Amino acid sequence: MNQEAKDDRGYLDMVPEVFGFVQHLILPSICDGNADARILFQFEQSRKYNAGVRWHPGGQYQIYVNEGMVDKLYEFCNIYGGLESSFMRQHLEEFEAQGVSFDQALGVSFTAGLIQVLMHEYFHVAAGHVGYLREVYWQDDEPEFCFSESDASEDDPVYLAFRKMAELEADGAATALMLQFAEDILEGLDISFASGETRQDLLHRAILLGCFGAVCLINGLFEKSVHASEEYPFPATRLINLCSSYFRVVAPDLVRWKDGDYKVRHVEDDDASEITDVMQASVSRALFILHDALEAHGTKSELLVEGWMDRPDETTDFMHDVLMVLGGSTPSKSVHGRELSALSELHADMMRKLAPHRELDLWPMTENG
Ligand SMILES: [Zn+2]
Repeated sequence: MNQEAKDDRGYLDMVPEVFGFVQHLILPSICDGNADARILFQFEQSRKYNAGVRWHPGGQYQIYVNEGMVDKLYEFCNIYGGLESSFMRQHLEEFEAQGVSFDQALGVSFTAGLIQVLMHEYFHVAAGHVGYLREVYWQDDEPEFCFSESDASEDDPVYLAFRKMAELEADGAATALMLQFAEDILEGLDISFASGETRQDLLHRAILLGCFGAVCLINGLFEKSVHASEEYPFPATRLINLCSSYFRVVAPDLVRWKDGDYKVRHVEDDDASEITDVMQASVSRALFILHDALEAHGTKSELLVEGWMDRPDETTDFMHDVLMVLGGSTPSKSVHGRELSALSELHADMMRKLAPHRELDLWPMTENG
């Protein structure tokens, strides 16, 4: 990811491979043999910052991602790469110690970000979000379901809550599923990587950096004041949701399923400290790096307190809530955490609505194995 590659936009060559990876490897692993014919992934040569789902009367779905979005994601990965902060330098050094170059390490994050966008859109179909909205709200119109443009025609709070929950569900399922393909992502990038104690933390951190980047870029900006759409949750809410999703993947033994949602089991002290170590090495460090990247991007992050390096004991409400979900508890301190908790209360009702349209049982599927 050097200047030369940036100028000739050589990274666009990676795009068809990532699309092929999702279409031919990830999709067949989770759905029936018809998926190839029903779900089409399309890379569109438009500069407009967008991705979404279109459907055809024959029952096919077309998932598209624009060049404008891929550019943004690449740009953001370059911001990660250029950070001087100690956490980012350490991240790259740990890869280097494994024989993985700077470009390759950022390539893992870029690939993961792109898979996140594709799978997020796919899950809007598989989870029944598109089917339900078409039947109940959109009837015979054929709007595109896409995340960067609001069709603000609906001001019904039930509809708005549904849309937000749909975004959160698609995000969480995409990240959880991708983590199960972590080794395949490396293989696809021709990266060989020695085993070691911290291998998984490092690989997960690189993937999470891509997912976090994609989720923050989806809304374009982070600040509340510029968060205009009511249909999309705040990026911070989405981040807390991703951390919760990560917790379910890394600590599946600690959660059990109930009424389509999960409840936390009692945790033994030894298990709890092991989980804490994993979370600190992977997801917490990814969030620190994300904070620096957002600031370098000119976006107010709100993730950490200003000058956090010199004020290690001070934590934001956001980070408090991240720690809550990483410990399996309900986030309640930040406005974003409370938004997530409030939406979770509506989960059972949403599952009932989606049942006739649901193609996959999302959460048990993403529970390791
Ligand atoms: Zn979406």
